[in-house]
Amino acid sequence: MSGSEGLERIRGEVLDLVLLDLRMPDMDGYKVLEELQKSDDLKDLPVMIITAADLTETEKRALGKNVKGVITKGRIDRSELLARINKFLYGPERTAYPRMPKVSAGGPVKILIAEDRHDNMILIKETLRSTGYAVYTATNGQEAIDIAEKERPDLILMDMQMPVMSGFEATRQIRETEGLKDIPIIALTARAMKGDEEKALAAGCSDYLSKPVMPKDLLRKIEVWLRY
Ligand code: MN
Repeated sequence: MSGSEGLERIRGEVLDLVLLDLRMPDMDGYKVLEELQKSDDLKDLPVMIITAADLTETEKRALGKNVKGVITKGRIDRSELLARINKFLYGPERTAYPRMPKVSAGGPVKILIAEDRHDNMILIKETLRSTGYAVYTATNGQEAIDIAEKERPDLILMDMQMPVMSGFEATRQIRETEGLKDIPIIALTARAMKGDEEKALAAGCSDYLSKPVMPKDLLRKIEVWLRY
């Protein structure tokens, strides 16, 4: 978006951080920074600058004290950018994912894991337990449905390839069941199974994560879905 569109959006919302490109049409990043400084509400809003060319130290100092970092395009990939943002938002000493209270009105947040591979199950279960979630487990789709009906989990992690009943079929049935159909379901897909991501979404999964599951990615994704 352009500088003036960006400024309009900044004014309309309560933000934690702005990523600001210095070179934009109609109003450049310098002008946006200047406008932010004029506003009492916005002058302390943290900004990270994105720039195509390296800035000199003098140029960096001239950016203002609300500028918390400068990212040079091409020097940083997507995951590094996310790491920088996380580090800023949650602090260097914290892990890269946000920690949210794990206690909802009725007690700890409940997560159901449906996974037929024992080693995957252990890894996921330990990751979730150590973070404070209440964990329920199933080893096939039918069991997942039964436990979901009984426990009403806040979120389901669903392996797609399982015996007896696949994750695809279990998800379809959950989406047709009153009281269960709004539960976020994150599909666990095998990288080797091409097209499983799309099939999982088509079956009604909210999102997917490809295996092998990395604990940080898993926790981050869960937090995202628990916010809704
Ligand atoms: Mn499986």
